[in-house]
Amino acid sequence: MRIARYTTGEDPTYGLVDGAGDKIAEISGDPLYSKIELTGRTTTVDEVRLLAPVIPRSKVIGIGKNYAEHAREMGGEAPTEPLMFLVPNTAVAGPDDPVVMPPQSQRVDYEGELAVVIGRMCKDVTPQEARQVVFGYTVANDVTARDLQKSDGQWSRAKGFDTFCPLGPWIETDLDVSDLRLQTRVDGEVRQDGTTADMIHDVWTLISHASQAFTLLPGDAILTGTPEGIGPVEPGQRVEVEIDQIGVLGNPFLRR
Ligand code: MG
Repeated sequence: MRIARYTTGEDPTYGLVDGAGDKIAEISGDPLYSKIELTGRTTTVDEVRLLAPVIPRSKVIGIGKNYAEHAREMGGEAPTEPLMFLVPNTAVAGPDDPVVMPPQSQRVDYEGELAVVIGRMCKDVTPQEARQVVFGYTVANDVTARDLQKSDGQWSRAKGFDTFCPLGPWIETDLDVSDLRLQTRVDGEVRQDGTTADMIHDVWTLISHASQAFTLLPGDAILTGTPEGIGPVEPGQRVEVEIDQIGVLGNPFLRR
């Protein structure tokens, strides 16, 4: 299933999106917490404003340097254990929402990533058990103030500004994520073209590792790292991250 969160000008609602990404069948309630039931109302993607498909109630967990070529382009070796950081949920933005580039940073980068959405509260799960706690997958842009990441020495501010964590366009619940093509484009020009098969630590290992430290709650998101080809965005440019079998997450970047 593809589950979108959207608005037609009123309170956000959820719906099932068809395979072509055109039509939406509205469902009642929040699918993270209640059984999926259609209301009978339908609309189209063009007629609504898509919102971030989930607003994590407790946390977004980022994973640094989970692709060897990206670790290399950052000038280092990949860490032996998954390197985790936390992003506040106030950084989450939706499809087409502007990413606001803060005045404190002179270099804001895109990082196209696969995001895992957790469906069940869990702690200390093994990689084998991890499959059972996944609600679904979506596309993320782990936007980073690269200059502040270096000067701060830790990553909270550089990755945590408001709007720095676009998610969407929807959550795909049935997906084999072992080898999905991931492409990032800036104004249509391809900058990242990788595959999730090149992750150093796979999705199951990442969930297990995170759960050894934190209790994972429904709606928590794990950003699984970015492939090589990161780079800066100029104000006025549009960044699109596309993952096969999920969809395209596009956001304009602008200066406040
Ligand atoms: Mg990242």
